[in-house]
Amino acid sequence: MAGLVIANWKMHGSLELIAEFAQEWRELPQLSGVNVVLCPPAPYLGVVSEAVEGIVLGAQNSADRVEGALTGEVSSQMLSELGCGYVIIGHSERRSLFSETDAQVAVKAQLAIAQGLHAVVCVGETLEHRDADQQDKVVSEQLLGSLAEVPWEKLVVAYEPVWAIGTGRTATPAQAEAMHGVIKGCLRGHFGDAGADIPVIYGGSVKPENAGVLFECDNIDGALVGGASLNANSFWHIASAASAGRA
Ligand code: PEP
Repeated sequence: MAGLVIANWKMHGSLELIAEFAQEWRELPQLSGVNVVLCPPAPYLGVVSEAVEGIVLGAQNSADRVEGALTGEVSSQMLSELGCGYVIIGHSERRSLFSETDAQVAVKAQLAIAQGLHAVVCVGETLEHRDADQQDKVVSEQLLGSLAEVPWEKLVVAYEPVWAIGTGRTATPAQAEAMHGVIKGCLRGHFGDAGADIPVIYGGSVKPENAGVLFECDNIDGALVGGASLNANSFWHIASAASAGRA
């Protein structure tokens, strides 16, 4: 499968940054063999889709209801109407800061996929779990809890160890590869043969300097990139490494 590289801008950016990013991105060579997705903050979806060429638009979150009196929420249907192809669901920041549960993540993923979006379901262990050697159990349980009633088509799983997000501390390729193997095993157990077709991407301080070695791992199908995706040049180098690793 082609590599998949997703930019998660979180609550960063401005109209000025989008203009600069778009200009720099336009001057970089076009990439092939990799699907590049850009997830800006929701208010910028329209501007990014107009300004940045050669990317698929994505969102960082969607609601766990179809519609209603839910001030501040954004539905999957709205994202789909705006041209999004992907939505990140259950990012560790949503789980820890906004108390999202596995059950909510599963509902959000179902609704997103029903609207034709790719649901990027995030899972990952904390440092405490890693230090206690509980990571396989914790991530498998979180994954299966987040997949209740979720169809496999258009599902993407992002493994993001919480201790590696925004810390500059990346999981070693061996640690990431081992966990991706566990996740792929769970997906095959849950979905049968179809589970093998679900991309499993890695996130946690991915940068141009470490992307190449991560993408050489058999079970790593791409990356979810936070900090390094705010700069077009760094993000391009990561996406380019994914395209080389999967060519
Ligand atoms: C993320 O936001 O999903 C992420 C992995 O962030 P960073 O690359 O900055 O660690």
